[in-house]
Formats: sequence, C-alpha cells, structure tokens
Amino acid sequence: MSDFRVIYHEPICPECGSFDIDRDQVDTGDGLSETAHICGDCGTAWPLACVTDWTAMVPAPQPSPAPDPLTRR
Ligand SMILES: [Zn+2]
Repeated sequence: MSDFRVIYHEPICPECGSFDIDRDQVDTGDGLSETAHICGDCGTAWPLACVTDWTAMVPAPQPSPAPDPLTRR
C-alpha cells in the first residue's frame, strides 16, 4: 500500500503576496536562462528551484562537537 502524496509549492509572490503568478524563461545575465516565477502584479521574478528564504528559517542543528581523539595514556 503506497501513500505517496505530491506537494506542490503554491506560487505566491514573496513581495506582494499575489496569486497571479506566471512562469517564464528569465535571462540570468550569463547567457543562460532559467524558468522563473513572475508575479503578474508587481513583476517580481524568482527562481522555481531554490527556496533559500524558507529553509533559512529552519534553525540549523547545532554542530555536534568532534569526538575527542583517542588518547593513549
Ligand atoms: Zn508581486
């Protein structure tokens, strides 16, 4: 029994919160282009792939202290 569920990111403008979002190829300036979300209201464009702002809000786990090297007495 499988219980897969696909979760789609809701395209919401990070600037104005509009749901009027379109997708288009945006020139990144390096001669490359990538698919981006574009707000239909304020024109803000942001990439589909990375959502660094969201993941940055998750507190990073404290780095565990390196285990002391075995010392020979
Ligand atoms: Zn907007």
